[in-house]
Amino acid sequence: MKSKISDNYRRLRESIPKHVDLIVAAKTRIAEEIEEIIDAGAINIGENYVQEARTVCSQLGDKAQQVHWHMIGHLQRNKVKNAVDIFSMIETIDSVRLAKEIDKRCKQIGKIMPVLMEINSGEEPQKTGVMPEQVVDLIQEISSLSQIKIMGVMTMGPRFGNPEDSRPYFRVTRKIFEKIKKLCLPNVEMQYLSMGMTNSFRIAIEEGSNMVRIGTALFGEREC
Ligand SMILES: *Cc1c(COP(=O)(O)O)cnc(C)c1O
Repeated sequence: MKSKISDNYRRLRESIPKHVDLIVAAKTRIAEEIEEIIDAGAINIGENYVQEARTVCSQLGDKAQQVHWHMIGHLQRNKVKNAVDIFSMIETIDSVRLAKEIDKRCKQIGKIMPVLMEINSGEEPQKTGVMPEQVVDLIQEISSLSQIKIMGVMTMGPRFGNPEDSRPYFRVTRKIFEKIKKLCLPNVEMQYLSMGMTNSFRIAIEEGSNMVRIGTALFGEREC
């Protein structure tokens, strides 16, 4: 079945400003779908699970090397060893323990990993991410790790509902981004503000996002 994935990609890429990176959120999508989107010009693919990323990467073979893989799901420490092989950015750092494990595994393979701090912008206890008031302390601790380069922040915000309802979450995250930038911490380079998904990316860009993570608008609805 030839789908409209490539058309969707081109149309979406044209409709968002050039300075905004588009991360294709590819969870649950099969290698053929990801291949189609790479052929349409996608350069950044986001995955939520290390095992799933490994599977599609091996199915894609050389084609997997044409793109950058971003870890956008919660990363468990026992998956870090495999994760550091695959990913060229990890967007979901929310603890010192996780950062130290990444640092250790990257040392073993001689890699420096660009990372984003995941902010729990809604301050919801059941959600992943760092609480806003803890971000600066956490960054200061992590920034001393030699194999990690902190390059920005990301947030999820609400997935559904009125996109306008996401705006306060994006504002909070933007404020944190600006605040950290002003501190000029060593080994911290605040470059990426990753926020916005299918239903909210336009609002996110209005609020300063320069990295959006989009799945549904490209591939259609997920079954799970
Ligand atoms: C699934 C996912 C997205 C994309 O969501 P869509 O609504 O399908 O665009 C973005 N970011 C993360 C972390 C995700 O898990």
